[in-house]
Amino acid sequence: MAEHYDAIVIGCGPGGSFFAKTAAKKGMNVAVLDKKKDLGSPVRCGEGIATQWDASYGLPLNAKSIAMRIDAALAIAPNGKSFRMAGAGAVVERKIFDKFLAIDAARAGAHILPKTLVTDLVRENGKIAGVKAKRFGEEVEFRAPLVVSAEGMENTIARKAGMKVQHTLYDTDVCYEYEMANVPCEPVIELYFGNRISSRGYAWIFPKAKDVANVGIGVGGETGADPKALLDAFIRERPERFKKAEVIEVKGGDISVGASSERLVGDNFMVIGTAAHMVDPIHGGGMGLAIIAGKIAAEVVAEAHERKDYSRDALVRYEKEWHAGEGAAMLKRLKLRKAMEGLSDDDLNFIFENMDGNDAAKLMDGDFKSVVAKLLLKRPSLLKVVKSLM
Ligand SMILES: Cc1cc2nc3c(=O)[nH]c(=O)nc-3n(C[C@H](O)[C@H](O)[C@H](O)COP(=O)(O)OP(=O)(O)OC[C@H]3O[C@@H](n4cnc5c(N)ncnc54)[C@H](O)[C@@H]3O)c2cc1C
Repeated sequence: MAEHYDAIVIGCGPGGSFFAKTAAKKGMNVAVLDKKKDLGSPVRCGEGIATQWDASYGLPLNAKSIAMRIDAALAIAPNGKSFRMAGAGAVVERKIFDKFLAIDAARAGAHILPKTLVTDLVRENGKIAGVKAKRFGEEVEFRAPLVVSAEGMENTIARKAGMKVQHTLYDTDVCYEYEMANVPCEPVIELYFGNRISSRGYAWIFPKAKDVANVGIGVGGETGADPKALLDAFIRERPERFKKAEVIEVKGGDISVGASSERLVGDNFMVIGTAAHMVDPIHGGGMGLAIIAGKIAAEVVAEAHERKDYSRDALVRYEKEWHAGEGAAMLKRLKLRKAMEGLSDDDLNFIFENMDGNDAAKLMDGDFKSVVAKLLLKRPSLLKVVKSLM
């Protein structure tokens, strides 16, 4: 017997849960299927999230899900000089945050089905009509006129649906991370840049308590560098900070740092979140973007549902809104990431010494010209690296 829904979501991460909550609130009968038996675990995340945009989303950012509130990020050059970027944020416990997001979706009326691995699509008369899954060891079919891929990096079902969401090594960072106790911390996210630290990417210290932190590193997938070896070196080279540190959890994973996928919608099918490469190309943050995509997609779907039309034409407004907003902002940051890849450690030291948080905010917003012009006045030789930003 197949179970019938208005929409089936594959993946109960932030994107899938937020889509399900929004669609269920609009009266849709939604099921979220996740292969994990324990949602949110294992953690593949630094767990940092900006919170200034949260007010209109109502995320479960509360005393239980937040490990530590953050009021700034510190960008640190290879020579140790740094500048501060103010901004409200938090380091969450993903194991709790993801579960709360799923509870919010369930409270809105969505059905949450953990331990359910989606293995394939069901097609009827050539159209996507549901999914095949393995649930508690049994083969089950779930039927719906709409299937939403919120599968994260492992976007196998989206690829089976014909979406072009393959990851390339060049636009993927390979990460390794320890959660460590006995690491002294301020309520500040620390980002360490430099070619010796990491071939592309950066190392991070994200505090979860005054003496607990996620300490991780990302390296460009194409470089073939070993992120664990680089992370161990990063820690070894800071004996004062890490002399009493103890690893209490080992985490890691790959993350997309390119542009979001061009096509996000097909007939009876959508892709949201990291499955569609919606991850910030500079810092690799993808929770917020997955939630934003889930919200936009669900609002478009609710209108299509009223007309019982799940064709690409009925759903394409989601794709257009994404690319006009967050997708376009991601493209600017990708340009910045590519320019940064050409910088030597000496260039990075110079740039960080001649920049402040306001300049960094401008760069992150894609407003490159005034900052680049200021830097070029002092060091014209940078032109060959940063001309793509002019
Ligand atoms: C090391 C590392 C550090 C990171 N640090 C940060 C950070 O600090 N801040 C931040 O915002 N982002 C960070 N990210 C990225 C962030 O973790 C993701 O972008 C975010 O989780 C994406 O949410 P999502 O809902 O799209 O997908 P996910 O959270 O990946 O959820 C996808 C879900 O789909 C399920 N699934 C997949 N395939 C199937 C299937 N066939 N059947 C059933 N279920 C399936 C998975 O089990 C999973 O639960 C980091 C990533 C890595 C690897």
